[in-house]
Amino acid sequence: MEFVIATHNAHKVEEFNRILKPLGITAVTADLSEVDETGTTFSQNAYLKAEAACRETGKPAIADDSGLSIYALGLEPGVYSARYAEPGHRREKVLNLLRDVPDEKRGAYFTSAICCVFPNGRVLRAEGVCLGQIAHGNRGEGGFGYDPIFEVGDKTFAEMSGEEKDAVSHRGIALRAFAEQLEKWLQEGVYGTV
Ligand code: IMP
Repeated sequence: MEFVIATHNAHKVEEFNRILKPLGITAVTADLSEVDETGTTFSQNAYLKAEAACRETGKPAIADDSGLSIYALGLEPGVYSARYAEPGHRREKVLNLLRDVPDEKRGAYFTSAICCVFPNGRVLRAEGVCLGQIAHGNRGEGGFGYDPIFEVGDKTFAEMSGEEKDAVSHRGIALRAFAEQLEKWLQEGVYGTV
């Protein structure tokens, strides 16, 4: 079964494929319209993106809405992670706000809400959370977005290989849960023809 990935983010496409391919799921990109992320939860925004992509392409569409919640900032930026500051200045903003915050108060977590909308109207959702903390500076060359400032153990996401990140990341957890549920649906035939 082929899924359309409802994102314009090339890094997310790479992660989707890295995680889903070994699970036997093919995800392809499509030329999709921009969707206004008007939801107040990750799950709502993931639905908005997947539903629009499914409507536009007529194919099952899978979307991720994700973000970073920082305890010392009252769980900001959360769903506003992509709009927290101008591109290229988001990590700097977080590091500045946390400049005087000690290690034990730098806890944070990433959330990934996955939503898949099928042409027959069925909706499959999964969510993954990854706990970590905000580093005191940028470390590592890999990944994207907030990866260089988000530590799990002694490495930031940007210091991990793709496979290391996938094993613990919010998106890895959510996509594996999605694949498990999808397999169950396929075996049980609960969603008919898609
Ligand atoms: P979205 O595309 O609306 O879901 O926005 C996600 C925001 O959270 C973007 O600013 C990303 O940079 C950030 N984000 C989500 N997942 C990750 C991740 O795995 N690593 C780093 N940043 C992420």
